[in-house]
Amino acid sequence: MSQTISINDSQRLPLKPLEIPSKLLLGPGPSNAHPTVLQAMNTSPLGHLDPDFLGLMDEIQSLLRYVWQTENPHTIAVSGTGSAAMEATIANAVEPGDVVLIGVAGYFGNRLVDMAGRYGADVRTITKPWGQVFSLEELRTAMETHRPTILALVHAETSTGARQPLDGVGELCREFGTLLLIDTVTSLGGVPIFLDEWGVDLAYSCSQKGLGCPPGASPFTMSPRAWEKLQRRSTKVANWYLDMTLLGKYWGSERVYHHTAPINLYYALREALRLVAEEGLANCWQRHQKNVEYLWDRLEEIGLSCHVEREYRLPTLTTVCIPEGVDGKAIARQLLTEHGIEVGGGLGELAGKVWRVGLMGFNSRKENVDRLIEALAKVLH
Ligand code: PLP
Repeated sequence: MSQTISINDSQRLPLKPLEIPSKLLLGPGPSNAHPTVLQAMNTSPLGHLDPDFLGLMDEIQSLLRYVWQTENPHTIAVSGTGSAAMEATIANAVEPGDVVLIGVAGYFGNRLVDMAGRYGADVRTITKPWGQVFSLEELRTAMETHRPTILALVHAETSTGARQPLDGVGELCREFGTLLLIDTVTSLGGVPIFLDEWGVDLAYSCSQKGLGCPPGASPFTMSPRAWEKLQRRSTKVANWYLDMTLLGKYWGSERVYHHTAPINLYYALREALRLVAEEGLANCWQRHQKNVEYLWDRLEEIGLSCHVEREYRLPTLTTVCIPEGVDGKAIARQLLTEHGIEVGGGLGELAGKVWRVGLMGFNSRKENVDRLIEALAKVLH
């Protein structure tokens, strides 16, 4: 006779159906998703090899090429957040022993250092105080010293609010036979990007910021030069899930099963990209720029200043200096609990020194700036 095992009910929570309070996400991301995107997500999943779904994947690839301004055939959405797409660039491009030069001027430069090291790169760094950017001369000097296989830069450093200029960097990389890898997590959709014009070989991004989509399906692209390097590898890509030689067979013409795609997130991403295309890239970038300039003016009106020099400030993320004697964490908490507005705190070198205010994608709107400034003025006085 089999023994009866009693079910342990100690974790069986008697919960009510899920209700999420409405909040305005003006931090470093995620930002609020566009209502149309949420609606698209709320539909029945298709099979991951269904012809209708495969057609939607093609649309995503094409629209990603549009928002990035690239013709790269190998442009896909990685299943996972921005860090997964970041790891996809490193895993596919780096072979053990490759010299990888990384510009570190904030938290995400350091994440690249960590990841590249894990894939056996001979990592070299060039550093700047957080909030500053590298000049082309500084990059040239570092390239002469290190002669790297890959140069990795963060276009939009979310921890500092600084935009790394990329003019001339692609040409510099060509001169040294180096691949150029850039992080566009906080720039895609909100900041002008011209991947092909700029000679970028590898780039990644996320869905939850400038594209106004929930997190979980992340843009990834590699140029024909980067693809050739992948074909020449003498070692397997050390990450099965992110190996483009396998993923490429699902996203390309072969349509071979690799993993079950997060179907509804791809619906969302497709719709988010469609909305950017409908608005038009130039209009979308201008809207971000106009609203952030309005934010900077309104911050000044209430006596607050920005951490980054105006010329290098991002349209998507602003680091606001916390005034002397003000408890930044307490103010952020008050904004959230009393006004339903989320802003971010500082990371690393800037912890306790700045708030991080995001105006990204659907959230980049004048009324959101007004709502934030009104709430900030109240909690600060
Ligand atoms: N790179 C940058 C510049 C980021 O801002 C972030 C996240 O905010 C990431 C990478 C990692 O993305 P995720 O948090 O979506 O994994």
